[in-house]
Amino acid sequence: MICASVPRTDVPCVDAKALNDRVRGAYLGLAVGDALGASVEFMLPHEIKANMGVHRNIVGGGWLHLKAGHVTDDTEMSLALGEAILADGGFSALGIARAFDAWLKSKPIDVGHTVRRAIVRFRSQGLTQMPLDDFDAGNGAVMRALPVAIATLGACPDDVARAAKLQAHVTHNAPLADLGLMAVVRMTQCALRGKEDAFLEMGRIAQGLREQAREYDFTKRRMENPSAFLPETLRAVFQAFLETDTFEAALIDVVNRGGDADTTGAILGFMAGALHGESAIPERWLKGLNAEVRKRCKRQALSLLQMSPMIGGEAVSFMDA
Ligand code: MN
Ligand code: MN
Repeated sequence: MICASVPRTDVPCVDAKALNDRVRGAYLGLAVGDALGASVEFMLPHEIKANMGVHRNIVGGGWLHLKAGHVTDDTEMSLALGEAILADGGFSALGIARAFDAWLKSKPIDVGHTVRRAIVRFRSQGLTQMPLDDFDAGNGAVMRALPVAIATLGACPDDVARAAKLQAHVTHNAPLADLGLMAVVRMTQCALRGKEDAFLEMGRIAQGLREQAREYDFTKRRMENPSAFLPETLRAVFQAFLETDTFEAALIDVVNRGGDADTTGAILGFMAGALHGESAIPERWLKGLNAEVRKRCKRQALSLLQMSPMIGGEAVSFMDA
């Protein structure tokens, strides 16, 4: 299939400095959201309130006994995925599966059930794409979707969807989750492009998802204590994101809902970071992040951007297809 990238003439005034700020903001937002949310993961909103009032600082702790400024699987798997994309110069299911396998061997602090099961199947059967399973609609492939959104920025929609699903299906393959995944990737790319009406357009994409599948209807009851079931995760993320207007307010809103808070924090963090840029992330959170994590996020963000059709001008490459 021929699927040309969007010629760079379509984006005549890419402001490189502003684009770099948004791409770094997205990656740092992911890590900050993960680090902030991990302290209150699996807590109920009233427990958070009783223990810390409003949770607003990166202090570590939580059920993982995380060191302050450290991150969990959400950020670590994103970095592993990003490294695989950079090493392969494109998208290889085998390259990604190997990267996740190596990550699991490094004895990470936490691993989702679906992710672990998939990596075990890769080891035993060589499977790099999971078979369709409607019970796989967890949030584990969406929490690490950012590297694909950056690396395929400016690509045609078919290539974006193909790359996003290829990485997701290494561990999760559920049509309901794919719908949510695509909405998140499109919203993130919309934010990264930096048009003036990006926030409104992101809201329209979220509304479109809600019309595609009622599980994602975020307009009804306030979502508290969201589980790892993607529709619950995204209902909390969309409510917090669309009802606030700064990076800080949005992230504080979502993590104080408790539940899978490191993952709602991670997803909201990269979407809001993409919209508002690194310069909008509070200094105390950037400084609070582990220095090595901060450095890797910034570097990877810019490297992935360099290979995107928007900057690199090359179409997206797919291997082992
Ligand atoms: Mn996590
Ligand atoms: Mn989580």
